[in-house]
Amino acid sequence: MTISPFSALGLAEPLLRALAGENYTQPTPIQAQTIPLILQGRDVLGIAQTGTGKTAAFGLPLLQRLAQERKRPGPAGVRALILSPTRELALQIHQSLKTYGRHCGLNMAVILGGVGQGAQVAAMRQGVDILVATPGRLLDLVTQRHVRLDQVSHLIVDEADRMLDMGFIRDVRRIVAALPKARQSLLFSATMPDDVVHLAHEMLKQPVRVDVAPPTMTADRIEQRVFHVAAQDKRRLLVDLLHDPALARVIVFTRTKHGANKVVENLEKAGIAAEAIHGNKSQNARVRAMDNFREGRARLLVATDIAARGIDVDGITHVVNYELPNVPESYVHRIGRTARAGAEGIAISFCAPEEQAYLRDIEKLVKRKITVVGEEPAAAARGKAPTPIRDYAKKRPFHRGRRGNNNRRAA
Ligand code: AMP
Repeated sequence: MTISPFSALGLAEPLLRALAGENYTQPTPIQAQTIPLILQGRDVLGIAQTGTGKTAAFGLPLLQRLAQERKRPGPAGVRALILSPTRELALQIHQSLKTYGRHCGLNMAVILGGVGQGAQVAAMRQGVDILVATPGRLLDLVTQRHVRLDQVSHLIVDEADRMLDMGFIRDVRRIVAALPKARQSLLFSATMPDDVVHLAHEMLKQPVRVDVAPPTMTADRIEQRVFHVAAQDKRRLLVDLLHDPALARVIVFTRTKHGANKVVENLEKAGIAAEAIHGNKSQNARVRAMDNFREGRARLLVATDIAARGIDVDGITHVVNYELPNVPESYVHRIGRTARAGAEGIAISFCAPEEQAYLRDIEKLVKRKITVVGEEPAAAARGKAPTPIRDYAKKRPFHRGRRGNNNRRAA
């Protein structure tokens, strides 16, 4: 039996079981850095945005500490308070904690504005181990004495910069001021405007700062190319490109699990072996696909963004963005899989007309225009016969050091 990387971080069996059930095999960077600190009782300032796995980063150690402390909340009492700026995020956090904590035997409630308070008041009567709340409604219920904050020993403020944008910072301050001083506090924010820095000073004690803010710079060693291509032509283009042995070790990215499965299916029809890794695959299947890729037995890996987070494989020659990411930072993460350890690499993006806006966001983020190597729909729009995709592939536009060719447009 292999040791789970999550158990190496100090997480106990009931949580490991829940994580195995979710097919989480590798901690994300924020999880790897934050979980041990929280288990040690440290305060943490986490610079991270949604999508980095930050809910599990604070949720897993929180569940473990609460389960180990074995205290019971008094009537209307709360042991751990999680503040969220929006209803959606509050519900998402609540759902995630229920999933991760399903073998922990803790009780949880969620309090949000915009719905009747009756059910929320009832849920608080006996007290709860974990309360996820938006600030306004929480203050209402505290004022009405349906919620007591004098037993809170763990505080988490999530998306602090959005609290600020939405005008909730004063409410958050009032809540923090009503909490016991002896507590563990965590603050997460994607950015650190001055008011969030002040809030962090007020509520955290000697915090450890963990920063996983996405890089906005791309390595100069990566050649970035874009191919404007209709969505239905992408599969043909990919197959053609893969005839070139220069694409020796390739990760193909899609936005969704479904997209990844489709790419694998199409490649297999064309006689090209490929495997997908994403959250719906069993842990064994993912480990096997990764090992095959890492050890050079497989040339191709098809991955979604989240599944690719833990991937650290040297010698990836090409990253293909079969679908552009809708979050521009993901582009930087994706193409950073190549050109590791001083090597060079090539990133090829397939951009369908409906993905133009994603491309613009990416170019804004990386502060450069990405070289166009094919422009079929645009040529067609100008009334010219498009250069067949096959010809582009033959010109081998994705080799290094042939910039002249690389910049050639549809003739
Ligand atoms: P969050 O940033 O907390 O909103 O998480 C983003 C998404 O990543 C959620 O859908 C989680 O279920 C998923 N996730 C979190 N941690 C992991 C992990 N270690 N492995 C795979 N998926 C994860």
